[in-house]
Amino acid sequence: MTESPFSSTYEDARRRFVQASRAVGARMSSYPLHIEDGAEGEDFTIDVAVLGPEDAPTLVTSSGVHGVEGFLGSAIQLAQLDELRGDIASDVRWVFIHGVNPFGFSRIRRFNVKNVDLNRNFLSDDSQYTGAPAGYDRLNGFLNPATPPSRFEPFRVKAIWNIARYGMSALKQCVARGQYNYPRGIFFGGSGPSQAFQVIKENTADWIGPAKRVLHVDFHSGLGAYGSYKLLLAELTGSDECQWYERVFGQDLVEATDVSGGTAYRASGPMGEWLQDQFSDRDYRFVTAEFGTYGPVRVLASIRAENRAHHFGAKTSQAFRNAKQELLECFCPADQVWRRKVIAVGLDILSKGVRGLAASHA
Ligand SMILES: [Zn+2]
Repeated sequence: MTESPFSSTYEDARRRFVQASRAVGARMSSYPLHIEDGAEGEDFTIDVAVLGPEDAPTLVTSSGVHGVEGFLGSAIQLAQLDELRGDIASDVRWVFIHGVNPFGFSRIRRFNVKNVDLNRNFLSDDSQYTGAPAGYDRLNGFLNPATPPSRFEPFRVKAIWNIARYGMSALKQCVARGQYNYPRGIFFGGSGPSQAFQVIKENTADWIGPAKRVLHVDFHSGLGAYGSYKLLLAELTGSDECQWYERVFGQDLVEATDVSGGTAYRASGPMGEWLQDQFSDRDYRFVTAEFGTYGPVRVLASIRAENRAHHFGAKTSQAFRNAKQELLECFCPADQVWRRKVIAVGLDILSKGVRGLAASHA
């Protein structure tokens, strides 16, 4: 591909995804979401491309669960579709889920139109959308100031003070785990299943077909060291599944859920665990591919500032534009070296996935 697979807007990413999917002869489906924010005449869709034999092991990729992170995931999907154009492997079925949170993707937000973090929204039928970690209650005033962005904002000072007080790992856990009590707060998991959750719920069985073996790679960014990546698992260290992922992708790159001091934090209601539960009659393996950008204080500051500007800032203000630009930079750096690297790595993850699926799971 001569043109960069990175798009500068959601609309552009969507158009290119549809075009590239058609070029490889994929079966396309578009699922419109009904967005009420005065966004008249705009289409927000989850677009899905499926290709390859019905009963083959299936490789699923998804992008944009966290809106703005879709710039990265969409670019990898586009690069992969471009590769398939020359060489459609017949031993794997591909499913590309593009823009799971198209509103956030379009508006440079991590959250959806109802401020929901979709990776905190996939609760089981018997769970209630209530509660917040105790630490979140204490930090709510710091995380979610209910005022427009101001010029003087000693975020770093407060953040560093809180890190010193609670410890980074405890802080990450209580802030980012997800909460259901503060609808305008960051990491809000919603008050019920989101439209995106419904689309996934109603259609995944159709997308993956009768495949007994599925590997799902969900692309994310903003966690971990700049330019590096980790594949985060829901499974435990030492489990058979964990060993399979280590063999397929390399031991150093796989991080099980129980690793202390690791990249990840335990989230409530993540999409992957819901899918694995839902398809427990088959071998449904799921990795969250996390690409690192900047340090956690800067990334958290960007999420907080954008959320504040979104709810309390004037859309025409410079502060609003700055907040969007910084969020985009934190989840998809403009740096060409970073961009080339994540594409190469993303394609490598998928080609290892194909080989892993083709080989025995045992
Ligand atoms: Zn993410």
